[in-house]
Amino acid sequence: MQGNQTEKYTLLYGRLSNEDKREGTSLSIQHQEEMLRDYAEKHSLGNPLFLYDDGVSGTKTNRPGFQKVLAMIRDGQAATLIVTDLTRLYRNQSEANNLLEIVFPALGVRFIAITNNYDSATNTESDEDLAMFSNLFNEWYPRQTSRKINAVIQHKAEKGVRIATIPPYGYQKDPADKFKIIPDPEAAEKVRYIFNLCASGMGPEQIAKRLERERVLVPTEYAYRKFGRNHSSRNPDFPYRWSGSSIADILENPDYIGLQVSCKTHKPSYKSDIVVEVPEEERYRVENAHEPIIDRELWDIVQRVRTNKRRPTKLGEMDMLAGMVQCADCGNTHYLCRCGSWDESKYTYVCGKYHRHKEECTPHTVKALHLREAVLQAIQAVVQTVQADREAFIAHLTAKQSGQLKKELTAKRKELEQARKRLAEVDNLIAATFEKLATGILTDEQFQQLNGRYLAEQETLKTRAFCFEAELAKQQDELDNVGNFLAIVDRHLEVPELTPEILREFVHHITVHERDGAYRKKFYTQKIDVYFNYIGTIQ
Ligand SMILES: [Zn+2]
Repeated sequence: MQGNQTEKYTLLYGRLSNEDKREGTSLSIQHQEEMLRDYAEKHSLGNPLFLYDDGVSGTKTNRPGFQKVLAMIRDGQAATLIVTDLTRLYRNQSEANNLLEIVFPALGVRFIAITNNYDSATNTESDEDLAMFSNLFNEWYPRQTSRKINAVIQHKAEKGVRIATIPPYGYQKDPADKFKIIPDPEAAEKVRYIFNLCASGMGPEQIAKRLERERVLVPTEYAYRKFGRNHSSRNPDFPYRWSGSSIADILENPDYIGLQVSCKTHKPSYKSDIVVEVPEEERYRVENAHEPIIDRELWDIVQRVRTNKRRPTKLGEMDMLAGMVQCADCGNTHYLCRCGSWDESKYTYVCGKYHRHKEECTPHTVKALHLREAVLQAIQAVVQTVQADREAFIAHLTAKQSGQLKKELTAKRKELEQARKRLAEVDNLIAATFEKLATGILTDEQFQQLNGRYLAEQETLKTRAFCFEAELAKQQDELDNVGNFLAIVDRHLEVPELTPEILREFVHHITVHERDGAYRKKFYTQKIDVYFNYIGTIQ
């Protein structure tokens, strides 16, 4: 048992707090000492010296035993420090951190916490350290830590820091900030070209063929030649072989309008490596995360074209209205009937439901030619109305809303502001209670109670703030929509003819009512409603 002069000590430290005393004898000083000596012996850690503090709470003042431990460590007299568990050490995390991460390693002291299964000689992963610290105090602590880490990642995502590493085609890394992307002018031009081809009615496969014909390098080959970035799917034998699916990916990538969607996956627990996909609506969407390549209108047009994917039939080119015409009564998409003809003037649209099951609807037949005329007239009328009296047009569209809406918006904003303010207060209160616990003013029990209350309030406030934000966004959208539509009108002084581009820019869909008379009649009226993008019909 006699330690020799040159061998360093294995310090065994025990502590009993007042709280421990109330809990009974399982943690008694004698018990701790036995456990520590036993461990040292089994692991051949020589020259053990037991030091302890009895009946002292975990604050740093007035712990003679621990002061001695620190002094010996400082003086280089100790090789190892063993405690039964981490709570013996300190109850303040930053001080514990300091010791374990900086002081002990710097002085070359091995640290062992038996029940935490921690040994600085074998645990080197910082992750493990973190998980261990999380176990440090109480049940609530691991949750807090895990939350904090997630909060850091989410904070990054909210701030628009890019988490994905390779910039999408059309972008390059910002040399000034590796977390940002900026347009790569050469490829950005190609991206715009692809979007424009789609807006003009070409499908991904057709666009792919066109690019191949025009010898446009595919993204992997382009990235290799320009940035020296090699991708496993790069095939140098076919540098121009675009695929429809890669075109489709480009057309659907919100990065091109500056919208960054991140946190697509999430680690539910600091303890596990399981990664789950975050539902679409919970992903962080950062608008204006970087410079857009595609403007919003072109993007919207392309998304609409993509949702009514039109398939060319055996006769080749599709009619431009195909997929946009609906039956006013059953809501089905009208079927384009070419009647075996190449003559466009003979094309007719028939209710799709009627076409399949005659008894379930009526024909709602309309000639493609008449439909085009009606749509062109509607567009011309709206352009002229806006040009004649813009204010009246806006007033007409927003009449039912404007005054009332503005008042509501202001009130909602105020409420949101208040909820956010209180949320910040609660955050501070939570931090303050934690401090108080750490400095021993509050007991665990008091802390749990108080903290639980604040956490509950925080949760409620967050939900409320979220609801306000959603409502505000929705109402703001309604106002924005009119502006978006006016922007389209402003691009066209006049509309002499209906082209696929004009159609997609202005029109969302068209509904066709049934004719007012028998089909044999030469003269009849048939109501056609044109639903414009953003604003719907104009009554
Ligand atoms: Zn129908």
